[in-house]
Amino acid sequence: MQILVDLHLVVFGLLSALAAICVAVHIALKAGSALAWLAATLACVGAETLVFRYAAQSDAGIAAISLLVPLAYLCAGNAIRQSLKLEIANGRQLWVFAGLIGLSLLMIPAGAPIFYQCIPFQLAGVYIFYEAIRIQMRQRYRSLIDNALLLLCFCSMIGVAIRAPMFPLLLGEPTPFQVMNVDIFESIFINALSLLTSGLAILLVAKIVANVIALHKHRAEHDDLTGLLNRRMFDEVAKQVEEVAGSVVMCDIDRFKTVNDVHGHQVGDDVIRTFAFILTLYGDYAGRMGGEEFALLLVDTPQEEAALIAEAIRLEFHQFRHPAIGEEAALSASFGVASFGGGQNMKTAFQQADKALYRAKKRGRNQVCREETSSSVRSGLEKAA
Ligand code: GH3
Ligand code: MG
Ligand code: MG
Repeated sequence: MQILVDLHLVVFGLLSALAAICVAVHIALKAGSALAWLAATLACVGAETLVFRYAAQSDAGIAAISLLVPLAYLCAGNAIRQSLKLEIANGRQLWVFAGLIGLSLLMIPAGAPIFYQCIPFQLAGVYIFYEAIRIQMRQRYRSLIDNALLLLCFCSMIGVAIRAPMFPLLLGEPTPFQVMNVDIFESIFINALSLLTSGLAILLVAKIVANVIALHKHRAEHDDLTGLLNRRMFDEVAKQVEEVAGSVVMCDIDRFKTVNDVHGHQVGDDVIRTFAFILTLYGDYAGRMGGEEFALLLVDTPQEEAALIAEAIRLEFHQFRHPAIGEEAALSASFGVASFGGGQNMKTAFQQADKALYRAKKRGRNQVCREETSSSVRSGLEKAA
């Protein structure tokens, strides 16, 4: 028994399935809207395939093609822009785009020759792709994959522009140019363009997947509230720098429970974010160890210098005023400093810094304690207060 399946239906089915997968992944990962735009592109191309097969000769079919072809380019352009975290087509671009499509649609009832009717909607596609390329070129830093995307976009745009006068061939109509009415255009040029756009689609999927991986890697390594390294990642970084000498500073916001109790959790979160921000100003490796406890790794920094840095952080935080807390109530934090390298491993350094922090709390908080001398470093400003 012989089963005949229309190739157009197979292509339509595959594109629809891919579009559905993109939508499902987009919903599941909540990772930007590039996948949603890609799904819309695939849906347009899928619908286009059916119209070419079953309705290309009718006016309604030509109208559908006049809409679907440029729409696919708009959606693809937006998918590329979103995958690169660039803004999507703006109002002015959409007006030009819609105007060109409108012109094509108006030519159908006016009885314009198909050759002329096809030109404006194709220009709409070329224009919107040109705008996508223009915004990509403005990017200061482009990775290898970004450059490949830009190159393929450019080649596709040129291909679509060159294809413009040949478009009637796709609808089974001759073009006014005799030289184009030969099979070679359809078999070589049109197929080459399909390969190019397929390559562009694959590269776009690769870019979106790379974005999703990067996003989840970042989420796995950083704290949501502050953006600092989370405890797991901080420990990993600490292991990597163990061989190099340096210091570790353990910090804890003082009487933080009271901030939450009196001013609310939201204000508490603000205070945590502010403390975290101050930490990032003083060291490359800052981590949130949990709650209102933080740590700072200072590579190549002797303990004396680290204690001075901790003192600067203490002072800066103490001078910060949250509008909801008021001018009178100053916040404070306590610090413990210890060094690693030179015979002391990282684990011991953390224990020593923790002990020093405990001492700082016991001695009245709002101060820095060092591991060796157990001395407290307090600024002149603080002593005067
Ligand atoms: P001490 O000076 O001894 O450190 O006292 P403290 O009140 O700072 O310490 P305690 O451990 O008693 O309280 C810490 C509080 O931090 C309790 C907890 O509700 C709060 N906390 C932990 N994580 C968060 C957070 O992400 N946001 C907010 N707003 N509060 C948090
Ligand atoms: Mg505390
Ligand atoms: Mg604590």
